[in-house]
Amino acid sequence: MTFADLGLASELLRAVLDEGYTKPTPIQAQAIPLVISGKDIMGGAQTGTGKTAAFTLPILQRILPFASSSPSPAKHPVRALILAPTRELAMQVFESVKSYSKHTPIRAMCAYGGVDIKPQIAELKKGVEILVATPGRLLDHVENKSVSFNSVQALVLDEADRMLDMGFIPDVTRILNMLPQQRQSLLFSATFSEEIKKLADTMLKSPVLIEV
Ligand code: AMP
Repeated sequence: MTFADLGLASELLRAVLDEGYTKPTPIQAQAIPLVISGKDIMGGAQTGTGKTAAFTLPILQRILPFASSSPSPAKHPVRALILAPTRELAMQVFESVKSYSKHTPIRAMCAYGGVDIKPQIAELKKGVEILVATPGRLLDHVENKSVSFNSVQALVLDEADRMLDMGFIPDVTRILNMLPQQRQSLLFSATFSEEIKKLADTMLKSPVLIEV
């Protein structure tokens, strides 16, 4: 099994090659074709399994046909939203998104709290296809009207169990309620408590369960 067998576009295969990955990890082999085909996923995976690339690569592939090289902000609406519980995790995911998208025109940014919001507002104004964010800061941007969710076609909730532990589920639920109903959703969690399952029920449509 190679990355090429999973149906990834050449721009993404080049980036994977640049990273030095020779073969997909088990979660990547399972998740990548399913996400490319548009399925919702409930993924049980710890950090270290390669889960970040398992959702980032196919999400990039889904967005690639829409990516424009025009500088106009209107041509770069937010098409994928990736929520992470902490600034550190959001930054890690963002770094992966940047690496894997480097041969594409897709723009990405990271929005987390604890820092001045103004540079983030300015960056959002220029337009980004992929927004990696922590829930609280994303809601600040909503209140500021610095972000629109009208074009969001994919949502990823990473480390949902930590979101729960940190008390972010009400924020996540508020965000979910603002997103287009017609979208793809992926939820990743190391554990599946009743509360996570309840969240999955409200967020995912006919999800495929992947456990590694
Ligand atoms: P993650 O579980 O997403 O935090 O990834 C853990 C580490 O594995 C990261 O440093 C990745 O760069 C690396 N990684 C991800 N996929 C692969 C792969 N297919 N082959 C080798 N390393 C990988």
